[in-house]
Amino acid sequence: MWPGSGTTSTTAMRNCNCNGATRVRLLLAALLLLLFSPAAGVAAPLYSVTKVDERLYAAIADPRGEAASNAFIIITPTSVTVAGAHFTPAGAAEITRIIAAITPLPLRSVILTHHHQESPAVDFGFPPTVELITSARSWSNLKGEKQQLNNQVISFEKVMTIVGGKQTILLTVMEPGYTAGNLVVYLPEQAVLFASDLAYNNVAGVMDDGHPRGWVQDLLQLENLVVTKVVPGRGNVTDGAGLQRFRFFLQDFFTEIMGHLERGESAEETVRLFHLPPEKIPPLFPLVQRKSIEWAWRELQEQR
Ligand SMILES: [Zn+2]
Repeated sequence: MWPGSGTTSTTAMRNCNCNGATRVRLLLAALLLLLFSPAAGVAAPLYSVTKVDERLYAAIADPRGEAASNAFIIITPTSVTVAGAHFTPAGAAEITRIIAAITPLPLRSVILTHHHQESPAVDFGFPPTVELITSARSWSNLKGEKQQLNNQVISFEKVMTIVGGKQTILLTVMEPGYTAGNLVVYLPEQAVLFASDLAYNNVAGVMDDGHPRGWVQDLLQLENLVVTKVVPGRGNVTDGAGLQRFRFFLQDFFTEIMGHLERGESAEETVRLFHLPPEKIPPLFPLVQRKSIEWAWRELQEQR
């Protein structure tokens, strides 16, 4: 129960030396608080929704929640397309409910920006009526899972353009950066970029699947795009400056790891001695620090 909710009000009512009208008001307040307090056992929402532009919405994942990767909702004149990744069964159900609250149009397509292998229940939760659009590499990753998809799948190698009415959706595979087969979504009419997990905004995410130098190169390429807004994989909607800020962090992070490698330090020593000034470290970084350092140490060691 939230702080200051029903318990406090009913206690106040019991202790109240007040008249009948005041008691009724207190009773009503207590009932309202009970009605709007989350019931025990009801899961907290995985996403919060924010409007990006006309007919465009971002579902911002709770960075501590099980979804942990934002989704991007595009409403075309006849249907809805969602882009994103890490769609757990609960996440897919919640995205479907979010869309139903925004529009009566049906969810027709899911653009899967990437799929982390060995996540068998993830990205399989949409109904068979929804088609899946993804890169050939991500499709290959999906086929490698034990679970099988019942959805129609459209896959492509490098670039795909979807045009519907006045809406153009450009899909581009960015490799070798974050996760094999990772793609970004760009809407030229609105100059909006959905970077998915290629970029985080002011919050850390675990970095354990990708290639450090390729990741920085990908971000440098995206910085050349004309963008008004950027929907990142984690954190709130940002802009080109936010994209650049994340690239600066990545470069500082990799430079620090390279310093430890140059001094011949092991991965374990690098984890122990790693240091960046606090102002350069995004929130929640301690939660992912060890895994991310071990990954970067391993990747950069291989590339030396
Ligand atoms: Zn991811």
